[in-house]
Amino acid sequence: MVKKIFWDKGHGGADPGACGNGLRESDLTHAIVEYAMGYMNANYSGFEQRTSRAGDQTVPLGQRDDLADNWGADIFISVHINAGGGTGFESYVYNGGVDAQTLALQKVLNDEILAAMRQFGNIQAHGGAAARQDNFSVLRETNMPAVLTENLFIDSNDAQYLKNTAFLQAVGEAHARAAAKHLGLPAQSPKQFFFYTGGYSGEGLAKIHSYLMGKGLGFTPSRGREGHLFFTVGPFQETAASADVEGFLKENGYWYSKQQG
Ligand SMILES: [Zn+2]
Repeated sequence: MVKKIFWDKGHGGADPGACGNGLRESDLTHAIVEYAMGYMNANYSGFEQRTSRAGDQTVPLGQRDDLADNWGADIFISVHINAGGGTGFESYVYNGGVDAQTLALQKVLNDEILAAMRQFGNIQAHGGAAARQDNFSVLRETNMPAVLTENLFIDSNDAQYLKNTAFLQAVGEAHARAAAKHLGLPAQSPKQFFFYTGGYSGEGLAKIHSYLMGKGLGFTPSRGREGHLFFTVGPFQETAASADVEGFLKENGYWYSKQQG
């Protein structure tokens, strides 16, 4: 049975959420959820995931729970950044009575996220208690275990962390690990793939060939029907090295495809 994860990116569009230190909550929640979803795709199987907004759209509060309820999500995770001059991390479940599954999801999120944050500094639970309860509409109106995370304060010294993309990535990945643990999702080995490109003559052919040789990349040449040379380059996983190859091909406007290996 495929598990369904709903990621709610707090705020967006006409509502930027909290602002401070040159940061907007809506941008940070977008970044964290994108990192979470990317990490899910790279590391787990047996799930589907959706988010309340792809980019910077305005999504009314009342629509967010409906999107998750109508889809039949198994868990709902709403990502926010705190404000009000405090410091630290905390998370919320509905204060009107929740089941053990909801509390378990909150606990695994708190554990994973605080551990990830502490790689960057001495980050504590806000007010000494990470697990909190309140009457937020996305928590009250959703039909599945729902947790809202408040990932540090945008208007305090916490902003030094929120300005660091490596920190946002770590926090996003921690959200994903928690979701996967809670749902018992199987880990998948990282996908391998090859770049397939070529079909050029003259300068294009020479430039691709010298790039591959210069980087010391393994490749297999082959001849197309017209006699043009093609290259199968790899194997790769999604790493800085594969991003470098893809960047080279894109920047120069060379045709290519990624093929599963
Ligand atoms: Zn918020």
